[in-house]
Amino acid sequence: MTPPDRRLTPDDRERFARQLELPEWGDAAQERLRDANVFIAGAGGLGSAVALYLTAAGVGRITLADPDVVELSNLNRQVLYTTKDAGRDKVGAATDRLVSLNPSAAITPLRERVDADSAPGLLAGHDIAIDCLDTLAARFVLNRASFEVGIPMVYGAVAGFTGHVSLIEPPETACLECFVPRKEPPAPAPVLGCTAGLIGTLQATEAVKRLAGVGETLAGRLLVVDGLAMRCDVLEVQRDPACPVCSSR
Ligand SMILES: [Zn+2]
Repeated sequence: MTPPDRRLTPDDRERFARQLELPEWGDAAQERLRDANVFIAGAGGLGSAVALYLTAAGVGRITLADPDVVELSNLNRQVLYTTKDAGRDKVGAATDRLVSLNPSAAITPLRERVDADSAPGLLAGHDIAIDCLDTLAARFVLNRASFEVGIPMVYGAVAGFTGHVSLIEPPETACLECFVPRKEPPAPAPVLGCTAGLIGTLQATEAVKRLAGVGETLAGRLLVVDGLAMRCDVLEVQRDPACPVCSSR
């Protein structure tokens, strides 16, 4: 039972009315979202969709980490930003946009790259990490840190018209190093903007479900989306017994 001072406010009831009506949702799910603390690594194409939808859905606290500034070539997919943001630091521009969307959301901008030394300390205290990064090396750093800290990670990756989504659940499921080939794709990969929006929106959906405790997640499964043929496949992923991250746990 939620104490009276932690119950949803009249403003919450109006803002989230259309999802509170869902039979799978309701006050308890909305309160879990409000009390959640989410770490979004990367404020690019994936991070834009993830941050906008999580803020709109009512996630209470979001840390957004990215070292870059907004460039004109970002704007085909990074829908957090407008033309006048060119030259601004991404997390500063993103924070303004997200707070204007939902003033109750506590957004912590982190203008830095998440590296192997800093990642575990940065992730500590968060309920879930969302991988919106654009290099395999950075993804593996986040994957390792999520295992070290013991929080789930929503994996998402995009190239061209295709994308991947999965949910890593330490220590139960295979981790990223178990099933993603250790070969860095050419960067930056060309990408159709809406493909990043599509995959980011799927990542946000997984995060919201996991935080609220509703539905069936992609834990242990990899969703592969081919936007050009408009086909989706869901593959079971297996733990690699020789995985340097998760096999000994
Ligand atoms: Zn592994």
